Amino acid sequence: METTVEYQSNITETHKIICKKYWLRADGKKNSYIYSCQDIAQEFDMKSQEVTEIVKQNSCLKILGRRCVDCGAIKTCYTRTEFTETKLGKRNNWQCDSCQIALQKQKEQEYLEYCLEQERIKQQHKQVLINKMGEYRNFQLRHIPSVSEIDVLTKLLLVLITESWGVKSFQKTISLRDNLLIPLSPSNQLDIKIIENLFKENVLILGLQQNINSIELNEYAELDIDYQTVRLDIAYPLEVMIQLRKEVKENKEIAYQLMNIPMFKYWCQRIQLSECVSYLNAQSRLNNLTPNVSQNMLNLLKECLTKLSVSDMYYVIWKAVDSAKEYAKQTGITRQRASNSIQGNIERVFKNISTGHWFRNPSHRKLEHPQSAVAKVCFDYIFGVEDGGFYYTLNELSNKFEEQDSCKKSNYSTLANVQYLKKDIEIKRH
Ligand SMILES: [Zn+2]
Repeated sequence: METTVEYQSNITETHKIICKKYWLRADGKKNSYIYSCQDIAQEFDMKSQEVTEIVKQNSCLKILGRRCVDCGAIKTCYTRTEFTETKLGKRNNWQCDSCQIALQKQKEQEYLEYCLEQERIKQQHKQVLINKMGEYRNFQLRHIPSVSEIDVLTKLLLVLITESWGVKSFQKTISLRDNLLIPLSPSNQLDIKIIENLFKENVLILGLQQNINSIELNEYAELDIDYQTVRLDIAYPLEVMIQLRKEVKENKEIAYQLMNIPMFKYWCQRIQLSECVSYLNAQSRLNNLTPNVSQNMLNLLKECLTKLSVSDMYYVIWKAVDSAKEYAKQTGITRQRASNSIQGNIERVFKNISTGHWFRNPSHRKLEHPQSAVAKVCFDYIFGVEDGGFYYTLNELSNKFEEQDSCKKSNYSTLANVQYLKKDIEIKRH
């Protein structure tokens, strides 16, 4: 490795000798210095450290064959250690300190620009989203149906929203996540279904505030809404809603109309089914069991509900989970296997009750499973029975209703059938 020593122009003679001796190497021996640092220090009556200091300040060793790949500068060493390190280091792509610093700065700058660009794209995206939300809100505001135009099922769902959200819902935008007076429905899925229905009917209006995290733009640049968290305004003022609530609660004509809408029956079935599923899940969790609520399980529960009330089903479910809990205590029975036995247990208990081998054992409502707004409005208001959806089957309620109003019913049902046939078809399409 060809090298040359250079000195400061104002170097003293003594310092020059010290530097010369410091850098002097035996010819042909790569790492062999003729004088050790200690030798030089002794000769000049100083400490070794002073020698290296003098050398550093007054001289340098240039390695002629080692040039910076970027700027071509020759590698310069100020200590023996540095020289050794250079010899051991990469030969072909050595980069000088200033070029390394420049490269580092360039990388930092590029990263900063990348971050700024990402932020710009994010802001642009956010602005597009805000514009779309504004457009959608304006569209909704222009298409709020007059109260007389709303179909009876939407009226019902709208009233239950105010039951659940309370008076505060008229003062500000509100979401399912907010503290509600009473739960909207027995399950999250049903909650979302209700909100989605009302939103699409333009009677719940997209709020502009605090909705950025609840809405995304999908690949077709349409709003993709999280109905669980989205904040909404009720389309009508308080006095209209009070009138609507009175109408749904007291006007029997509404009840007759609803009886003739298959979709109303569907909602009632879903409420009762959700009450059972919610109790089944809670009761299983309490016992460390995880039954699979499959379509089969749902079909079984639906079948049970044609003959037993939710109140009776609480006992059936309690008994089925309790048996599974005992089963899990047996040797070799896993939690999963015990959980899987719940469906069979429900089937068995239901069969025993429906064939008259066992007595029904109706339960009262549990504190953890309060009556929901949808149950209150659909059952109490319409059938006129307090918590009827819990204590009666849908058939029992329909029969009660028919007995009470048999003469009036015939007048209204003909009218309602025609009027709501079209609406039924529309709702089913959703
Ligand atoms: Zn360089």
